[in-house]
Amino acid sequence: MRLSRYFMPILKENPKEAEIVSHRLMLRAGMIRQQSQGIYSWLPLGKRVLDKVNAIIRDEQNRAGAIELSMPTLQSAELWQESGRYDAYGKEMLRIKDRQDRPMLYGPTNEEMVTDIFRSSVKSYKDLPLNLYHIQLKFRDEIRPRFGTMRSREFMMKDAYSFDLTREGAEHSYNKMFAAYLRTFDRLGLRAIPMRADTGPIGGNLSHEFIILADTGESEVFCHKDFVGFDVPDDRTDFDSVEGLKSIFDKWTSLYAATSEMHDEAAFNAVPEGERLSARGIEVGHIFYFGTKYSEAMGAKVQGPDGKEHFVHMGSYGIGPTRLVPAIIEASHDDNGIIWPASVAPFDIVVINMKAGDQACDDTCELIYAALTKAGKDVLYDDTDDRAGTKFATADLIGVPVQIIAGPRAVANGEVEVKDRKTGARETMTIEAAINRFVA
Ligand code: ATP
Ligand code: MG
Repeated sequence: MRLSRYFMPILKENPKEAEIVSHRLMLRAGMIRQQSQGIYSWLPLGKRVLDKVNAIIRDEQNRAGAIELSMPTLQSAELWQESGRYDAYGKEMLRIKDRQDRPMLYGPTNEEMVTDIFRSSVKSYKDLPLNLYHIQLKFRDEIRPRFGTMRSREFMMKDAYSFDLTREGAEHSYNKMFAAYLRTFDRLGLRAIPMRADTGPIGGNLSHEFIILADTGESEVFCHKDFVGFDVPDDRTDFDSVEGLKSIFDKWTSLYAATSEMHDEAAFNAVPEGERLSARGIEVGHIFYFGTKYSEAMGAKVQGPDGKEHFVHMGSYGIGPTRLVPAIIEASHDDNGIIWPASVAPFDIVVINMKAGDQACDDTCELIYAALTKAGKDVLYDDTDDRAGTKFATADLIGVPVQIIAGPRAVANGEVEVKDRKTGARETMTIEAAINRFVA
């Protein structure tokens, strides 16, 4: 992508409305724009990061056996009357009427709709277990939308829903998502700690929130500090192994970890003082097992091996991609801007032409840009005629992991500079060496 042809509206000044660093940096880097309170457009740079986050989420959902579909954002109120949540949900739910005066709503979550899909076609235990998910917009009319896309009214959620014949089966489904979440957050460069959670309006009896430690987090959390160093389930994890996944779950729930709603002071005080961590955190995921709550209310049953009808045991599993993007920034930035983990960076490399219009600089940059693009890298080429200082500041701000800098003096020697955004380390090398480093 040539920056001269791209759309990346950088702000020079610090936006006053932004209270936390991620919100400030997302606005300054031209990633998002507020359209009305708590409702955002994702501009091209932001969209690239969001897509990469979603690709990792999707990959790990698929690995764990979940199946992707797509449900609508607008739902009929009737479904919610069946489950009894239409009135219970309160003002957070945006209610609207269509032209026939039928009550509709902008979905805040999808338990009812997915249960309806399930009951319409699944009749036998032989079709279980089943886990259906989508990555889609939700709307909750939050009292206090704030911190940009961290807490917005319209936001994206990956929501998955599992169906099993028995409680034991449902626990295995829960453990699959538990392990998938650990892997997902790890690949996003985050350390997320599962904490026992309140089940809230979704209801149920087993639930964990996945929390990232951050000073700007809205939740108060208490946990054992060993969680920070725990190993995450690796590529070889067998999602069909009931014992294997149970042991991952047992290990990651063996030490104290709770949000303030579930905090047990006495239990926390039993943790040796030097090992206690009390901090603030951001909830980036939340998983629930809620048994037959919706299947009973909505008549979702299957024939079991005993020939009888059974209400299915369900769970639901949410991750917030539009919250994760600022959460990653909260965890990874410095005074100059964002530092993206390579896995979600909007571009892999930025090529900075320090003197656009200078033949040697132009030729060198074109050569590098073409070679790296051909090798499948996502390259941003700053070919604008801004001053070099402005270009450096922009490159640091948008947090691309590698900068390749071509200035007249180095280019005259057939060389360029390669800068690592995170460490700030710079290395001068031949043009060929710079290309080979990223092509190999
Ligand atoms: P919170 O306690 O932060 O209000 P919640 O418990 O109501 O969130 P869930 O119903 O558990 O949220 O939703 C699953 C995930 O969706 C959350 O873990 C979070 O990542 C994301 N999410 C929920 N509400 C918002 C929001 N208003 N803006 C952005 N992401 C959100
Ligand atoms: Mg929650």
